[in-house]
Amino acid sequence: MSDKLKTEKIRCDACPVMCYIAEGKSGACDRYANHAGELVRLDPLTVLHETEHKIVPFLSGTDQEDWDGDIVKGDRQFVTAIGAGTTYPDYKPAPFIVSQDIDGVDMVTVVTEGIFSYCGVKVKIDTDRHIGHERDVVRVDGEPVGHVMTSEYGSKMLSLGGVEHLTGGSKKEGRVTCDTLLKLCNREAVELVIGEDDEQVTVVVAAGKAPIINGVEEKLMRVGCGSATIGMFAKQWLNEVDEVVVVDDHITGVLSEHEAGKQLDIPPTGIKMLGRRSTPGRYFQVAEPGIGWGGTDIEDPLTILGPFNPKTARQGMTMLMVSTTGEQFAYFVLDQDLKPVPADIPPKLLSSCELIAENCEPSVCSVLFMGGAGGSLRAGVTENPVRLTKSVKNSLTHVSCGGAEAYVWPGGGITVMVDVLDMPTNSFGYVPTPALVAPIEFSMRASDYGVLGGYVDEIKQVDEINAQATRKVSRSQDDHNPMRASNYKWSEGTKAGESGT
Ligand code: SF4
Repeated sequence: MSDKLKTEKIRCDACPVMCYIAEGKSGACDRYANHAGELVRLDPLTVLHETEHKIVPFLSGTDQEDWDGDIVKGDRQFVTAIGAGTTYPDYKPAPFIVSQDIDGVDMVTVVTEGIFSYCGVKVKIDTDRHIGHERDVVRVDGEPVGHVMTSEYGSKMLSLGGVEHLTGGSKKEGRVTCDTLLKLCNREAVELVIGEDDEQVTVVVAAGKAPIINGVEEKLMRVGCGSATIGMFAKQWLNEVDEVVVVDDHITGVLSEHEAGKQLDIPPTGIKMLGRRSTPGRYFQVAEPGIGWGGTDIEDPLTILGPFNPKTARQGMTMLMVSTTGEQFAYFVLDQDLKPVPADIPPKLLSSCELIAENCEPSVCSVLFMGGAGGSLRAGVTENPVRLTKSVKNSLTHVSCGGAEAYVWPGGGITVMVDVLDMPTNSFGYVPTPALVAPIEFSMRASDYGVLGGYVDEIKQVDEINAQATRKVSRSQDDHNPMRASNYKWSEGTKAGESGT
């Protein structure tokens, strides 16, 4: 991997930066170092062991099992690409091509740390609150790193990184983007600023943690849209209140007009909603998006109502207004002028608001790494790279990232997506080109590896891996197992438990 160009420095050729590294120092990415004239990968190769425990934090020191030097302990293991090293400049075989017998099937795993220039993260933020309009720019340290994309049910979505930000902008934009991706993929918190000067929202995002929006930690994601909430809880409100409005930035629901209310014979109340009526009892755009009730900008729910119709409404009529998470609610009684006047909420209605909140799931951020396995990765597996792509599409080769299940997108290429929380901690690195370094493993039968033109002469038995240089991570039996026979097309027709289970 290295050329000794000067007596005191060696050259790392694991990425295009080609650092000269002095004795006792590490290269620009802190992944490789010069130890007594030898180029060494600083992070140990990570091996997953199937146990009854979950994956433990990297080098936690406390809950990591002591390494006993025996890599074949009788439990099932999987050599990941974390700490494996790369194949740059592409013509070389992957750093580890490991063979092991899995229930009578000779399996091979090709293990590489990929240098991903085409990569990014998709971030799902469970919140009703408005964090930005679709296509708003997301910035870190003033640099654009991504944008807001289409919202999903109860969640806002961001697309961060990608080759345009890594390579298509200024040097600082590429560096900040790479750093943002690295932190998010390694489960660290990053403060994102969304929108332009006059309308900015700050969101702190970390995988598996609640988002912090403008300094306030989000607690709950919505139980449903306003219309769905009416449908779900309509029966609870029957005979307890005359009208219910579930305030939602997208679809505000009105009980007396909604189909659910009609089927329960709830009479009209003469309520007048502002906004655009979609279908009976369902209103769009009752307010502007914001961080108030139900993802709107309102703090006073009455601002979304027009005057009650005097032909239908009457003094003493009651109304509950509630948000889609049940966190905000207010109870009103109409006075002689048919104006809603705040009143103490009856206990049964309070319970219904608490039930809405109880049915909301905790708000969390999810970070999914997405990258394309291109030239260097595929060439490290076989001299005929397109055969690998075909083998993946034919389910003869299984793709995993750090042992975690990777979704492979349909169509051309090998474009994968993986939840970073399913991967061992500190799975990701970077190189200052800038690009992200992510583990990727290709597993298949040894016979299929031969057919696709693999480097069969480079295959090592799993027990040839230097045990002293590995990091051992426990994997639950319930976690994804890349070697499971059901991952492969050839298992069709194999009886359950017969092979590789
Ligand atoms: S940045 Fe890292 S991988 Fe790239 S040449 Fe330098 S030490 Fe090697």
